[in-house]
Amino acid sequence: MKTLAVLGATGSIGASALDVVARHPDKYRVGVLAAHRSVDALADLCERFRPELAVIADPACAPALSERLRGRGIACRVEGGPAALVAAAAGDRCDTVVAAIVGAAGLESTLAAARAGKRLLLANKEAVVMAGPLLATALDEGGGTLLPLDSEHNAVFQCLPHEHGDLDAIGVRRILLTASGGPFRGRSAAELAAITPAQACAHPNWRMGRKISVDSATLMNKGLEVIEAHHLFRAPAERIDVVVHPQSIIHSLVEYADGSLLAQLGNPDMRTAIAYALAWPQRIDAGVAALDLVKTARLDFEAPDLTTFRCLALAYEALAAGGTATIVLNAANEEAVAAFLDGRLPFLAIAETIERCLAGASGEAPADLAAILDADLTARRQAQRMIAALSA
Ligand code: NAD
Ligand code: MG
Repeated sequence: MKTLAVLGATGSIGASALDVVARHPDKYRVGVLAAHRSVDALADLCERFRPELAVIADPACAPALSERLRGRGIACRVEGGPAALVAAAAGDRCDTVVAAIVGAAGLESTLAAARAGKRLLLANKEAVVMAGPLLATALDEGGGTLLPLDSEHNAVFQCLPHEHGDLDAIGVRRILLTASGGPFRGRSAAELAAITPAQACAHPNWRMGRKISVDSATLMNKGLEVIEAHHLFRAPAERIDVVVHPQSIIHSLVEYADGSLLAQLGNPDMRTAIAYALAWPQRIDAGVAALDLVKTARLDFEAPDLTTFRCLALAYEALAAGGTATIVLNAANEEAVAAFLDGRLPFLAIAETIERCLAGASGEAPADLAAILDADLTARRQAQRMIAALSA
């Protein structure tokens, strides 16, 4: 029996994870549920999954959550604030942590879970982008296992041998990340000028949170995933390629020295990746129908358009630059996407904001968490100034 902490329980990944968990009450139970400030949604989940502890990251929401749970007769401890979140990720109410908070807000709880030796089911790609080396050290020191939930990285993980060191030693030539191309594939920059948040969030194949939906529309999601793959698989950037595959059936591939390409295929449903990570090295039912190859009929591929979708090129540039560049990239992107979703910034200005902020990145790699958070904060302030100027 594994006991889970689901951080970001009220989100899209949280819902998919809990759906898989509910199918296997003999294998998994929920020890901790955490969310930002959606009191009602978290209370409903507590009623259904009966965790020992519920954490609400916004401490101002804790009294309302306590009252709601008491009113329904649910005996569940309630804690509020980011420190409670970090403590819960590392604490003994769980052995498995689903890191499904969106953005930099998930960094410290992800690191804490790694350091505490948990089985870490990682969706929070921003944490890897900001602090890849720190996360690797935390995993080494804690003795935990990282299992990627991001569908591409989960696919690559499935296509690599389980125990491996250097990619050269096992004959890996390239990692090929597939990208759907998002809702605006094939469009020109001129056609993207007046895009609205609703249009950007209407992804053709996946139903996701709003931030990652916009990232998919700009291709920054793929850029973050290139950096994520670099850290998770210890692969140099030049060995990580992106291929646009509009059907999202092949979730990614590994190319080997003998000419083999190993791919993982399936319907686009995050529960497959989540079930794999939950049960690894076994496999369990995820509630996902098998792919009907005849109905699928064809799989298409094309090169990404790095000129129109500049964010992917910027991510490669940040990875090559090193130092604080990937932290700046992520921070500027989070600020720009939030401004776009708020109606304060045009779609095309997302890339522009990030590009300008990257000019301020430092070449010196941050030594610890404090330096990472400092670089993050500085970049956010700079991005906010640029957003104010660009939207004026
Ligand atoms: P979402 O917006 O649907 O959910 C985000 C969750 O994080 C919510 O439960 C929210 O309460 C919580 N949260 C937000 N801010 C917080 C804060 N400051 N403190 C604590 N909790 C906070 O997002 P999502 O689509 O589920 O994505 C979550 C993460 O998984 C992201 O990093 C995303 O890139 C990654 N991911 C998502 C998908 C997908 O299909 N949705 C696929 C791959 C990777
Ligand atoms: Mg992905």
